[in-house]
Amino acid sequence: MTSIAWIGLGNMGSRMSSHLVSAGHEVKGYDVVDALRAGASQHGITAVDSIGEAVDGAAVVILSLPKGEHVRSVLADADGVFDHAAPNTLILDTSTVDLDTSRWCHDEADARGFRFVDSPVSGGTQGAEAGTLAFMLGGSDADVADAKAIVTPMAGNVLAVGEATHGIAAKLVNNMMLGVSILAMSEGSQLAHQLGLDPKAFFDVARVSSGDSWAVRTWYPVPGVVPGAAANQNFDASFSAMLAHKDVTLAVAGAEAAGVHVPAATLIRDQLQRLLDDGFGGKDCTLVVREASPDGSVEGWNGS
Ligand code: NAD
Repeated sequence: MTSIAWIGLGNMGSRMSSHLVSAGHEVKGYDVVDALRAGASQHGITAVDSIGEAVDGAAVVILSLPKGEHVRSVLADADGVFDHAAPNTLILDTSTVDLDTSRWCHDEADARGFRFVDSPVSGGTQGAEAGTLAFMLGGSDADVADAKAIVTPMAGNVLAVGEATHGIAAKLVNNMMLGVSILAMSEGSQLAHQLGLDPKAFFDVARVSSGDSWAVRTWYPVPGVVPGAAANQNFDASFSAMLAHKDVTLAVAGAEAAGVHVPAATLIRDQLQRLLDDGFGGKDCTLVVREASPDGSVEGWNGS
């Protein structure tokens, strides 16, 4: 049994942390949103009122936060993790952040005598719920080995990708590829519809053919085809347009810095940006399907 502090009990964190409780760990959880703390306590998390309370006595601290700025603030602000954690505490960041923030986390943790592993995840809220996420770990061999033991109850796959920041680098490239898959799926689903194909009949073809992808199997953007897809619930977010936009934007920035040409990723980034501009950042990222629709209408979406 390990004493674990969990900071950020949102869509991912609330689900992931409950697997650690089931595995027999003591988990103290904190989120700035009161209702999320109350919800977590129903899943065996000890909900606490501050980062300090969560971290006091913890051997491991796990973060699941929206963006790099939140990660830096939770770690380094007064009364944050760095102020309260014991020496040698293992800190895992499962958030998707920019490469500079991940490098900063490693350097700042190291300078203060803590251990840090970048530990982003893939698999969406469904994977978080099922405990089948892919974890991509970056850090020293010893820290990654310790991180692996901790994250295993939440994981289908735990991948030791390489040195510091290589986990987040792999995550950003992966999510850039997911964005491009969504673009292909959006256009394909709309063209199939306009050509008169039954959506389930076409899905059954694509699923076992070369048009298949994780996005197709998990998020096909037409109601009544894939259980759990956002299309079945008015495109309420499983993975919000805002977060998908964040990931693709970070990846495109990395590509630009590296001189890699990514026109397809740039296109899906811009489509996601238009969702944000129209006030739909909280809706699911698969709502970009509206861009392929001849008149902008989307089956399964009431327009709000
Ligand atoms: P979310 O917005 O639902 O959860 C983040 C939580 O952090 C929120 O509940 C928020 O209140 C909390 N928070 C923000 N600032 C805080 C602070 N200072 N102290 C404590 N709590 C604070 O987001 P999510 O969907 O759970 O995603 C979390 C991270 O995981 C993101 O970085 C995201 O990119 C990544 N991710 C998400 C998915 C997905 O499908 N949702 C998949 C893979 C990775």
